[in-house]
Amino acid sequence: MPDELFTQDLLAQSANAETREVIGAYTSASANGATPTLALFDGGMMKRFGRALAMLECRPDAGFRVLYAGKETPDDNGAPTSGRAVADLYPPTRHLLETGAKTALGIDAPALILHRAPLDAAVHRWEVLFLPLAEVPEGPRTLVAVFASPVLHKHSYFRSLLDALPQATLVVSPKGQGAPMAIASITAANASAVRLLGHACLADLMARPLAEAFYEPDVENGWMRLVAEMQPGLAAHFEYNHRSGSTAHWFDVQISPFDSGLMIALTDISDLKRTILDLDHQRKALIEEMEQRRSLEEELWALAHLDPLTGLPNRRAFRDDAQTTLIAAQTLHRHCAMISIDIDHFKRVNDTHGHGAGDLVLRRVADILRAPLRPEVDFAARMGGEEFAVLLPDTDLAGARAFAEMLRHRVEHTVVISGDAEIRPTISIGVAMVTPTGDLDNLLDRSDRALYAAKRAGRNRVMAEGEVVEDVQAA
Ligand code: GH3
Ligand code: MG
Ligand code: MG
Repeated sequence: MPDELFTQDLLAQSANAETREVIGAYTSASANGATPTLALFDGGMMKRFGRALAMLECRPDAGFRVLYAGKETPDDNGAPTSGRAVADLYPPTRHLLETGAKTALGIDAPALILHRAPLDAAVHRWEVLFLPLAEVPEGPRTLVAVFASPVLHKHSYFRSLLDALPQATLVVSPKGQGAPMAIASITAANASAVRLLGHACLADLMARPLAEAFYEPDVENGWMRLVAEMQPGLAAHFEYNHRSGSTAHWFDVQISPFDSGLMIALTDISDLKRTILDLDHQRKALIEEMEQRRSLEEELWALAHLDPLTGLPNRRAFRDDAQTTLIAAQTLHRHCAMISIDIDHFKRVNDTHGHGAGDLVLRRVADILRAPLRPEVDFAARMGGEEFAVLLPDTDLAGARAFAEMLRHRVEHTVVISGDAEIRPTISIGVAMVTPTGDLDNLLDRSDRALYAAKRAGRNRVMAEGEVVEDVQAA
């Protein structure tokens, strides 16, 4: 984070009582309009704040020089700065001092810089106050007093914030621009991070690079791969499965940009994950059970609606469908034909070739009936024994008769092989048309009567209602 420079309302900007006291002293000393001199720090002030003070001398051609530096003034890694040219100091320090001093001299009034040191510094927020001082007659030179006070409470504020976070939290900063995050330093961590990552104390954890943050390494090297995906300044969210030895933990890993590095927050979601996995198992078991139930229901439906021998709908299913079709035909004044079919001398087939051969014939006849049906329109069923029915919507008498004749012809020309036997079945068919008012029983009754007439007329033939009368009359 860059430093912040203030030239207005310094008292309000400062969070440090000592800084505010120095600002106050400077303000009252300049109340008469004159710039205060070095005398401001005479006596009590020097005694109290000397350690936090530095005095810069501004030479028009040679830049700034440190005349005197108190103990706590930022310096370049502990080397004494007194007597040195500001230009020779550690570049960030030089930049800080030059910026503040030039600003204060430029406006001839105090300037305050809020300076942020890296997080791993013992104190990482400073208030640095620059006070321009008036030239004194015996040594014509321009002086700037620099009062640097550590904002200690900010530091502890950060720490207590970190410790108050419910997640295990690490602050990491890369070794330099472009350096891999695996070797990034852990610059801060809270107590729950120390615990969660399995360390005995904070120092143990902070002594390690990010790639080795977990006390026990994970057997699958997953953490290393995760770290390789992290980038300074880039927020990310991962789920991470840490396996060490026989134990496995799930973590939610939330990564946010922080300073020049990252803040990494880990939450142990192992229990949640186990619950989710458990629920997933239960869900799968439930789906399986539903699947079984559905196929059981399908079986039950088939048992209730289909004839197991031929696979055709049974009488009950036929009646349900025919009822609806009949009403639709009557309402819409459409043709609709009912065909009743009975295998001729079927008892003989059983008696001669056995029940199994009879079953084969039943299946063959069913297949012949099924083949020419219009899908979703016509409906065929096994009504019981060796009797079948076909309902033909939108079909007039001639059409129905032709259809029935085609069926009869196909059955007549089929040969069922059973053992050594060749069975050549025939069928008799009765046709009746839907009338404007008759119900389903009436329709079935009429087509059955036409069927019996076909039987009486010699079998292996088709008879329609109208013809019944003629035949009976003719007989
Ligand atoms: P008709 O030409 O007058 O119809 O004579 P039919 O022998 O075909 O008629 P009948 O009603 O006397 O005989 C029908 C036979 O069908 C009697 C019964 O044992 C047999 N049958 C009924 N259901 C089945 C079945 O599922 N399998 C077998 N193999 N035979 C069946
Ligand atoms: Mg019969
Ligand atoms: Mg029969």
